[in-house]
Amino acid sequence: MRPTALNPLFAEVTTLAGVGPKLDKLYRRLLGREDGARLLDLLFHLPTGAVDRRARPKLAEVVPGQVATVTVHVDRHRPPPPGRSRAPYLIYASDDTGDLVLTYFAARKDFIDKILPVGETRIVSGTTALYDGMLQMVHPDRVVAESELDKLPLVEPVYPLTEGLSLYQVRKAVDLTVARLPQLPEWQDDAFRKREGFPPFADAIKALHRPAEPSDLAPEGPAWSRLAYDELLAGQLALMLVRANLRRPRGRVSAGDGSLRAKITAALPYRLTGSQARAISEIATDLEKPERMLRLLQGDVGSGKTVVALLAAAAVIEAGRQAAIMAPTEILARQHLKTVAPLAALVGLRVAILTGREKGRERADMLARLAAGEIDLLIGTHALFQEGVDFHDLALAVVDEQHRFGVHQRLALAQKGEAVDVLVMTATPIPRTLVLTYFGDMDMSELREKPAGRQPIDTRTVPLDRLDEVVDAVGRALSDGRQVYWVCPLVEESETSDLAAAGDRFADLAQHFGDRVGLVHGRMKGSEKDAAMAAFASGDTRLLVATTVIEVGVDVPEATVMVIEHAERFGLAQLHQLRGRVGRGAGKSTCLLLYKTPLGETAKARLAVMRETEDGFRIAEEDLRLRGEGDVLGTRQSGLPGFKVARLEVHSKFLQTARDDAALTLARDPGLTSERGEALRTLLYLFERDEAIRLLRAG
Ligand code: ADP
Ligand code: MG
Repeated sequence: MRPTALNPLFAEVTTLAGVGPKLDKLYRRLLGREDGARLLDLLFHLPTGAVDRRARPKLAEVVPGQVATVTVHVDRHRPPPPGRSRAPYLIYASDDTGDLVLTYFAARKDFIDKILPVGETRIVSGTTALYDGMLQMVHPDRVVAESELDKLPLVEPVYPLTEGLSLYQVRKAVDLTVARLPQLPEWQDDAFRKREGFPPFADAIKALHRPAEPSDLAPEGPAWSRLAYDELLAGQLALMLVRANLRRPRGRVSAGDGSLRAKITAALPYRLTGSQARAISEIATDLEKPERMLRLLQGDVGSGKTVVALLAAAAVIEAGRQAAIMAPTEILARQHLKTVAPLAALVGLRVAILTGREKGRERADMLARLAAGEIDLLIGTHALFQEGVDFHDLALAVVDEQHRFGVHQRLALAQKGEAVDVLVMTATPIPRTLVLTYFGDMDMSELREKPAGRQPIDTRTVPLDRLDEVVDAVGRALSDGRQVYWVCPLVEESETSDLAAAGDRFADLAQHFGDRVGLVHGRMKGSEKDAAMAAFASGDTRLLVATTVIEVGVDVPEATVMVIEHAERFGLAQLHQLRGRVGRGAGKSTCLLLYKTPLGETAKARLAVMRETEDGFRIAEEDLRLRGEGDVLGTRQSGLPGFKVARLEVHSKFLQTARDDAALTLARDPGLTSERGEALRTLLYLFERDEAIRLLRAG
């Protein structure tokens, strides 16, 4: 159960004065909490900067364009002339060095009379400008009487907003939240905290939401760093608790005698690469141990992970048990089946598929055979782990493209069998720092070599205004018998405009190239998608216009040209994934990255990296570095997925310490029952890693 001290923070934002149903909706959007925004979410909604009102110049010293706080005498009002209500309401003010015009649009007279009465002195703070040679301030941020100076916050935080919510409203809501912050126990190690110069949790929160200096808000400063460390520590603790749970000893060993693996290896039309062979032996060693496996297989696109998964499955099947491979999309699941089925048929391995599309009689029959142990390997989407899917004896679960799944799913997986071994595969190599964060609970195998015979991909960047030339080049490639992918712009906010863009481009290209052009996008029905993919795979269509649904895993070795429109809108990892769809066969491949000018600095750097290298591990490192720079340039909106506070490009230096801290703590106090252990439970709830606490209780 959640410590009662935390309850106030889990209250909904509607419990704040002034937040009704209308604002509630906006807060849900702002905080990314469709199912209810809570004070906790506001607490971790950190400022992006601050307005500094500490400058108190005389009017003659004011630098136009800057924020200033000035003390002025209100000389006279000039309301808009009758019949011209759009004209501004002007207030003429002055001090002994100069004049200032305060300008309000659509202001009520009684309001102006109240806050700026003629003949009085007021302290006014806002952004100044020079207009018609006059010093002006349009809509001052703050107006107070001299006696109320203490009510004027001299450094005010600035928050990310959403349309309909004002900065003023968000500030007020956050301020009310901070006022409700409960007394919490210290969960950090005291000696460590003092050495780092970290303030207590409550002080850190206050320093960020009620800064005394703009520098209080620096992500590398003590306040932000303290919270980031808290978050990383919570993450590492949760991962380790999951790992300890998955690793409970068991009496079974699930690797067989190698006979099936030998048959499969002999049937392959190629030789395994050195790193494939190494990964397979690492996995086999895990499977032979009376301990659960939890291993991450990292390999670039096209590095041949599927066959590693198949051989891992074969090992447990040799021991008379079952295996499952879970893919994130239906297309990918079918792709795996296509790769695996011919080999399986050769060696007598019984394979079936299960996605949302298998229904009725056929599905029921398949499930019955699965429960009876008449299926050795089940391939599918997350449908695999729904209720009603009962394995006879599941020994191994392979999860492809793990970064889309969280700790929850990992736990669900493990519950489908007795002590299920888990192999996670990711096609977007993850930098080491991130591996530690997200997969700190896993062992790792890497496929760093490409299978022999792969040719480098010729990658070029082309401005969009040379689209005609690109279409001509695509025409030439088609008449040379090559196949082409054409990926359409990614419009983040809206799936529908994505579709419109793909549809328009399809219509456009079909005019040039007729019925050789196909279209596939995420809104198509499964059967339509399959048909479109199948037509392309069989060569019936030669040019496939697609949204990013083709991103993951699609394998058509004959396709050798990849065109990516608006490449500047894609992240590096995604560009790399998309490019990985070509260069899979023997033919020479080309990737054209079409971009819209002018290019921003980060986009320019991303495209340069794409031209320079095909090494996914290097691209991943560059990606992290560039995202860090994006932050410096102010383009970044929010933290990394899964993190509220920590920014890895700033705080990754704390990862190793957080990991050691978590390991040491759990070694000394595995049930988290000591005083610090209890405080750490509070921390896990605070950062919502408390699913791990359930494991403590079970264990
Ligand atoms: P990914 O790691 O992207 O999932 P796949 O498993 O889909 O890669 O493999 C990509 C292609 O490489 C497939 O067509 C596969 O048959 C082929 N392949 C895998 N291993 C080798 C190898 N050692 N030598 C040659 N081709 C290989
Ligand atoms: Mg794959």
